[in-house]
Amino acid sequence: MHFLQNGGKIRLFLFLAFFFTITDLKAGEDKPYVILISWDACRYDYIDRGLTPTVQSLIDQGVRAKSLKSCFPTKTFPNHYSIITGMYPENHGIIFNNFIDPASGDSYRIKKDDSVKQDKWYKGIPIWFTAQEQGIKSGSVFWVGSEVYKRRPTYSLDYNHHMPHDERIAMIDKWLDLPLIDRPHLLMLYFADLDDNGHKYGPDSPQLDSALVKLDKTLSKLLSVVAEHNLTDSTNIILLTDHGMLETKKENAINLPEILKGFNYTLQGYDPIYSIFASEDSLEKIYSALKQNASGYNVYWKSELPGRFHFSKNPLIGDIIILADPGYYFLSGKSTYSVGVHGYDNEIPEMQGIFVASGPGFKKNLTADTFLNIDVYALICKILQIKPADSVDADIERVKHLLK
Ligand code: AMP
Ligand code: ZN
Ligand code: ZN
Repeated sequence: MHFLQNGGKIRLFLFLAFFFTITDLKAGEDKPYVILISWDACRYDYIDRGLTPTVQSLIDQGVRAKSLKSCFPTKTFPNHYSIITGMYPENHGIIFNNFIDPASGDSYRIKKDDSVKQDKWYKGIPIWFTAQEQGIKSGSVFWVGSEVYKRRPTYSLDYNHHMPHDERIAMIDKWLDLPLIDRPHLLMLYFADLDDNGHKYGPDSPQLDSALVKLDKTLSKLLSVVAEHNLTDSTNIILLTDHGMLETKKENAINLPEILKGFNYTLQGYDPIYSIFASEDSLEKIYSALKQNASGYNVYWKSELPGRFHFSKNPLIGDIIILADPGYYFLSGKSTYSVGVHGYDNEIPEMQGIFVASGPGFKKNLTADTFLNIDVYALICKILQIKPADSVDADIERVKHLLK
């Protein structure tokens, strides 16, 4: 009797263990996925050219914002890092693509591998870190910040500008093949094609259009991969960008070395925005020289920059800021003419980008007003049901109307 009772208990235990394993697995299966895709420099209106049917299919089933507003400065690294930390650049520390720490003299340069990997530059907590702490794995194909020592997503690769699109999609395929316990539910993908072609040939060039067509085909392949894994119903696709692009004219050059001839100064940033460091006694004179010649650009003391730029709190930002007017650019030792430029004021329409999203978390058939890219962080946290990190600038209240 005693034995039978124990046998019954064991059978009941085995049954419950089996039942809960299955329900756990099911619960895991049902957890939503987010695939966050960046088409670098996809201006808000590029997707109205009739060249991107796959994007259109996402719009038809989901949400499109009139535009996504970039953080200032409208550059690649500050904005990609804002999107995944929910912070303004002045708070997360990646203030330009290239900058110098005036205290140590160390430099951060995107084309210098090691500096982008040093965690000392990065404040804020990337969303993949917060997700990981709350039991959600992540995988990144080249998102800015995913190569940083000790701060990497669960799965990530070192940056390779030339990796073919198919290989990028193959990584997602591979990660979605993993057993549930290892599988990332937050996936990130980055493509530089529109930025490359926009700079070189301009936003209205046939080369840019070809890049759009190619990217749209890649997006379609990605959706097929998701479908092959039977994950379409649980996957949220978010397609966005970091900033737009504006065509400049060669004759709109501002000869910065000429204006600042005879002064000792350090420039940081990249066309069309720089901040300037100089010794105490020459700062006033530099400011006056810039102010006297100010045509095609604006000059500001850092402390008098409009608050809407959120670009003054950080000691890495120099004391004087110069910002070219839309369509103008600075000639400096480092920069040469490019047809397309970004980095201008984030209010101007040409600096704003796309936001398209579709999946179980998003409303259907909604055209939303322009919103700030830092709030994408809040959207992803909500969809993945993770608690946001403390002290972020993102605010779900500004974007919750996009969600079901
Ligand atoms: P920009 O147009 O100057 O703001 O910078 C865009 C460039 O950033 C692209 O051409 C990419 O080559 C580069 N880039 C994007 N992501 C990374 C990364 N994770 N590591 C290094 N370079 C990157
Ligand atoms: Zn960019
Ligand atoms: Zn660019």
